[in-house]
Amino acid sequence: MTTKPFSYLPIVLRTDQRDALLVGGGQVAVQKMRLLKGRCRMIHIWAETLHPELAALVEQGQAVFRQGRVAEDALQAVLPDMALVFAATDDEAVNEMVARQAHALRVPVCVVDAPALSSFITPALVDRSPVQVAITTGGASPVLARRVRQMVEAMLPARMGEAARFMQKQRGWLKDRLPGMKQRQRVWESFVDGPAYEAALAGEEDRAREQLEQLVAEAEGEADCPQGEVWLVGAGPGNPDWLTLAALRLMQNADSVLYDNLVAPDVLDRVRRDAERVYVGKKRSHHTLPQSDIEAEMLRRARRGERVLRLKGGDPFVFGRGGEEMETLLAAGVPVRVVPGITAANGCAAAAGIPLTHRDCAQSCVVVTGHARADGTLNLHWPSLARRGQTVVIYMGLSSMAELCRKMQDHGLPESWPVAVVHRGSCADQRCVTGTLGTIAEDVRRQGLQSPVLIIVGEVVHHRGEVVQAVPGYSTSKESA
Ligand code: SAH
Repeated sequence: MTTKPFSYLPIVLRTDQRDALLVGGGQVAVQKMRLLKGRCRMIHIWAETLHPELAALVEQGQAVFRQGRVAEDALQAVLPDMALVFAATDDEAVNEMVARQAHALRVPVCVVDAPALSSFITPALVDRSPVQVAITTGGASPVLARRVRQMVEAMLPARMGEAARFMQKQRGWLKDRLPGMKQRQRVWESFVDGPAYEAALAGEEDRAREQLEQLVAEAEGEADCPQGEVWLVGAGPGNPDWLTLAALRLMQNADSVLYDNLVAPDVLDRVRRDAERVYVGKKRSHHTLPQSDIEAEMLRRARRGERVLRLKGGDPFVFGRGGEEMETLLAAGVPVRVVPGITAANGCAAAAGIPLTHRDCAQSCVVVTGHARADGTLNLHWPSLARRGQTVVIYMGLSSMAELCRKMQDHGLPESWPVAVVHRGSCADQRCVTGTLGTIAEDVRRQGLQSPVLIIVGEVVHHRGEVVQAVPGYSTSKESA
């Protein structure tokens, strides 16, 4: 039987002014005590016997011990004063009773090893106090949670807590010196990216402070409103694991993000949560926002001092109008940074297991757009496309597919010439249909493939391999040949 997993809201609870109740005095209670220790005002331990580690805590005055079996009415009396309660005895009936009482009085309760009775569960923790990373799999797999914990442990410098405390201490004077929030934010960003942070990590407070002063002086020398920038960033074909490190970093630093329909939700999820998101793709009327409006929006924001992330599917300079946007922005004096992304040709080919060139059959690869002109015709140089020994990759070619295939044949390629059509390459719902110039338009129609699709024409399609996706969860399933 499969049961629906519970859903959990990760929050950080303030407990320094509150007491907590720990019911049970054995090994399991010790584990929960370690979590509570130093994080709440007083730990009340209610148990028949006490593990030495708990006894030591009582001796140090960090906990009070109430000896005996938990009685229902006495419990009712103490529960309302508790921020939370752990039921950690080896007696199921007692644990259940504690849970019932806590629920009745709306006190958060965790029954060890019984998520169904609990109103909260405890995460795996990486502790660099005041920096704490809590990890939960929602009870799906404690082993996985521990693995993630190991990964995070390895990533965070051991003395990160010291650096955090140093930063906390500087907040007051920094606010007086730099009243603008944005300015302060940038100073801190430069701080954590540079040598001052290393000094703070090493516990060299004086040096760290000196270097911070320098960053502040530089910021003071700049205008009140810091210079805005636009970052033209490629988001790749959809699989978030295929983002570049630079894209990820900028996604974490942007003040606002302008994106369109090609940017996958999985990718957008990785943008800093408090960045403003502006959708500039197809509106409800199905008309794309005019390019001039998008550019005006970027300019307006950059002039206000924002760091604007223009996130584009694939690569910004491949059929992405990134060139035009860059020119407009530079002409207006706005600094532009460009980060490439995996373009659909690379991404879809890799995801579908089709090489773009191959010693045996394709010495070149051309990339073209199948987007028709206003009068419905395609403006392509057919003689250079309909060639053997070459792969032709067509973007935006779904609606003109029939004409594309016909023209390729008119210019000399056989009806049996292979074609693959990849829908949402690299995404979890990727599909790939293969056929020939003679059949593919009908195959695609029958299979109901929708935009976006990438068309790959050439003998490389015969070399297609059943690849396993680089990232588990992103599979090439639901395929048809
Ligand atoms: N700048 C983008 C292309 C934008 S044009 C890039 O470099 O990839 C939009 C076209 O890109 C779509 O019509 C489709 O042909 C192609 N495309 C983009 N992502 C795709 C994907 N994940 N799967 C299939 N086609 C894709």
